[in-house]
Amino acid sequence: MKEYDTVIGLEIHVQLKTESKMFCSTSANYFGEKPNSHVCPTCLGLPGALPVTNKKAMENAVKVGLALNCRINNFNRFDRKSYFYPDLPKGFQISQFDLPVAQEGFVLVGDKKIRINRAHQEEDTGKLIHQTVSGEKVSLIDFNRCGVPLIEIVTEPDISSAEEAKNYAKKIHQLMRYIGVADVDMEKAGMRFDANVSLKPKGAKELGTKVEIKNINSFGFLEKAINFEVERQTKALESGEKIIQETRGWVEGKSETVSQRTKETSPDYRYFPDPDLPPLNFADEVLKTIAESLPELPDAKTERFEKEYKLSNYEAKLLVEDKDVADWFEEALRVYLKVGESEDETNKARKVANWVQGEVLRTVNDTGMSIKELKAEPASLVELLIMIDKNRVSHQAAKQVFAE
Ligand code: ADP
Ligand code: MG
Repeated sequence: MKEYDTVIGLEIHVQLKTESKMFCSTSANYFGEKPNSHVCPTCLGLPGALPVTNKKAMENAVKVGLALNCRINNFNRFDRKSYFYPDLPKGFQISQFDLPVAQEGFVLVGDKKIRINRAHQEEDTGKLIHQTVSGEKVSLIDFNRCGVPLIEIVTEPDISSAEEAKNYAKKIHQLMRYIGVADVDMEKAGMRFDANVSLKPKGAKELGTKVEIKNINSFGFLEKAINFEVERQTKALESGEKIIQETRGWVEGKSETVSQRTKETSPDYRYFPDPDLPPLNFADEVLKTIAESLPELPDAKTERFEKEYKLSNYEAKLLVEDKDVADWFEEALRVYLKVGESEDETNKARKVANWVQGEVLRTVNDTGMSIKELKAEPASLVELLIMIDKNRVSHQAAKQVFAE
């Protein structure tokens, strides 16, 4: 059997958090609402209705670009991507083509640099619901999601395994939460993956024909779908078959990918600048203000926690994983340094880190609450730590008190 290299490029769609939709003033808060209750002439694509760009969505898009170390295109614009789909009433999606908001960045996954080709802003489609009504199989359309702001983040084909793809996806998820532009709620399809997968003879320069697996909605399925596809393509190549460029879907019930259509290529979409929308031109000062509003990002925070608090890389990563946990840790430490016995900062940091990694995160996991929802505040933990320091309570008893 020949050996193959796996080559993967990911396209990730993230719904951006905004009050209103991408090109109209209809509320974007549609989840769980009555079907077709969040619609207007613009997002329904009725003749004569005109789109207006959502400023907040574009600010969020810039933040995404900056968090991905991209170059921001001051001048960018929207294009029409023509295709027919029942839940896309205009017959085209407003997207960005040759002048996207952000280009040429990278994300670190462990030590590996995954290059970002582009991040472009677009609008989401509606939703088809396939049901049986009065014994008849029907497809219903809910347009509530139609026109909700969506950013698409496209990598170069730099990913070389299913596991790496999953870790990259998790990193994007983390970054989106850090910069606060998206809920990235997997249950609400706030983040979806398309995985492009190909094989090539080990060490070969030229890339093989890729297959795109569309619309994967969980990290676990992403890994499974890619692994399945790698195996399927390996078998096909081994038996002398040619891989055809196509779009496949992951069917969880069957644990396999199935062919959906042979893929359109870019010319089929007939991209052209949307004549209803003026191009955007960000002033440098605006970009600067947005850049300054970004919080410290996970990689930088991890490095700082290692240096400043003498934590191991493993511990630092654990605390930094969720920004709220990192903030909780630092707030507790800040209070502890101020009011506790004078003691070496490193010592105190270690104690707080141990408690946060241990009892605090355990309580968070056990209760299913977020750290922000915990009744115990950072200052309450510090009170306990001081009691332990003064030998008023044992460590064991303190754990019980914390749980209470
Ligand atoms: P398309 O025009 O079909 O959308 P693109 O060249 O824009 O293709 O690439 C889409 C995604 O597929 C990108 O993430 C890219 O990195 C990835 N990709 C491109 N070629 C390959 C390949 N041979 N194998 C795996 N992924 C690929
Ligand atoms: Mg797209």
